[in-house]
Amino acid sequence: MKFGGSSLADAACMRVVASLVRRSLSRAPLVVLSAMGKTTDGLFRAARMAAQGQLEEATEAHSALMQRHEQTALDLMDRRVPDELHVELAAHFKELLTLLTGLSMVRELSLRSMDAVASHGERLSTLIFSHHLRHAGMEVTLFDARRVLRTDTKSGAATPLPRVIATLAAEQLAPQLGIGRVVVTQGYIGATAEGLTTTLGRGGSDYSAALLGAALKSSEVQIWTDVEGVLTCDPRVVPQAQPIAELSFAEAAELAAFGAKVLHPSTIQPAVEAGIPVTVRHTQKPDGRFSTIRGDVKSGRAITALASRGPVAVVTVTSSRMLDQPGFLAKLFEIFGRHAISVDLVATAEISVSVTVENDVDMDRALDEIRAFAKATVVRERAIVALVGEQLRSTPGVAARAFAALRGMNIEMISMGANEINLSLVLANADAHEALRRLHAELLPGGGA
Ligand code: ADP
Ligand code: ASP
Ligand code: MG
Repeated sequence: MKFGGSSLADAACMRVVASLVRRSLSRAPLVVLSAMGKTTDGLFRAARMAAQGQLEEATEAHSALMQRHEQTALDLMDRRVPDELHVELAAHFKELLTLLTGLSMVRELSLRSMDAVASHGERLSTLIFSHHLRHAGMEVTLFDARRVLRTDTKSGAATPLPRVIATLAAEQLAPQLGIGRVVVTQGYIGATAEGLTTTLGRGGSDYSAALLGAALKSSEVQIWTDVEGVLTCDPRVVPQAQPIAELSFAEAAELAAFGAKVLHPSTIQPAVEAGIPVTVRHTQKPDGRFSTIRGDVKSGRAITALASRGPVAVVTVTSSRMLDQPGFLAKLFEIFGRHAISVDLVATAEISVSVTVENDVDMDRALDEIRAFAKATVVRERAIVALVGEQLRSTPGVAARAFAALRGMNIEMISMGANEINLSLVLANADAHEALRRLHAELLPGGGA
């Protein structure tokens, strides 16, 4: 059971989470928590201010975080915070202040330091919540995820090592689980073989839950959040969006990769490999609708949902030498690869190729190299709008309806995903929301099938 930051906003929310955990005690739950809502943002901000030498502002942000966590503990423990929790909270905030002071002295912010600071969010939420469960009479173990969630050393967004995780989880975590009791652990954070704290990147708690679920061969991975499942579009953009009862792993993976924030893009992989269904549920409406994501469902829909990701940049490389010249693309992608520039969409023409990359990625050196043999232009502030559906390719007329809906908008690039379930369009970032609204009205009226 993974609960996101919005489900942990304050003591009242945490009580709701506790009631859901209690309902699941017969299933030997592992509870994976994010930081309390907005905490990770607050920690990042404090670290940045400290590293800019603004220690006073960083200290204020630190005090605000401390006050919020202490208040939550007070509210949850009916104003009688056990001494042990008091001491542990104080130790956390002391360590955090030491870290911030250090950053302000060296005026430098490495990804490694960022991870050290950010890890406190999940460590604090799990500490407070596990005390609350105990206070509420449940048998609880607080388990440090870093004991099993082994990653490589890539700070900021480390790569987990699933085989090591499976071994460690079987040895150390599985024996703690049992019917009638609960184990609470942190999402988002992990550790290297040397014990250095890492994180899985923003939104990474979903990924932690799927990795741990797979490692433990769980019967289900539940992602509890603030919407009734994966919807046909981001409800903040299209309020009419409706929950999708069942979707395939492939559809969910495409949606996540193309911007549906409800799931971290890597979440699906460990679950698919282990054949474990992932459900997405609303914490405040536990008996309402929800989505089930499974490997074996064939949705049979032409369009299941829409997503968008922006801003992105489009790089177009043009050279007459592309004509009949084997290896041109290999050379181009070797340059992108060497400069760690990740390419999303690709569209080729006779003498040019366009690719999308992150908007703010530093491309100067890569472009210099490319310009030694071709012309290269970069257009920023674009967005990718993705239409995702299992039967997209085999349903005639979908593209015609999509393009008709976008009449008058300038579509700059089109790419049909190689897995044939994703049609992606690139247009101005400023047009993306309007495009989603028009496409939703045309292709998913009433919220889809
Ligand atoms: P949590 O804090 O639980 O991890 P997130 O904020 O990361 O929650 O993800 C939930 C949010 O994702 C929703 O509130 C919604 O605004 C957004 N979202 C974007 N696209 C979708 C979609 N297709 N379906 C559901 N939610 C989506
Ligand atoms: N707390 C982390 C974040 O805000 C991880 C997560 O919530 O999934 O990105
Ligand atoms: Mg999230």
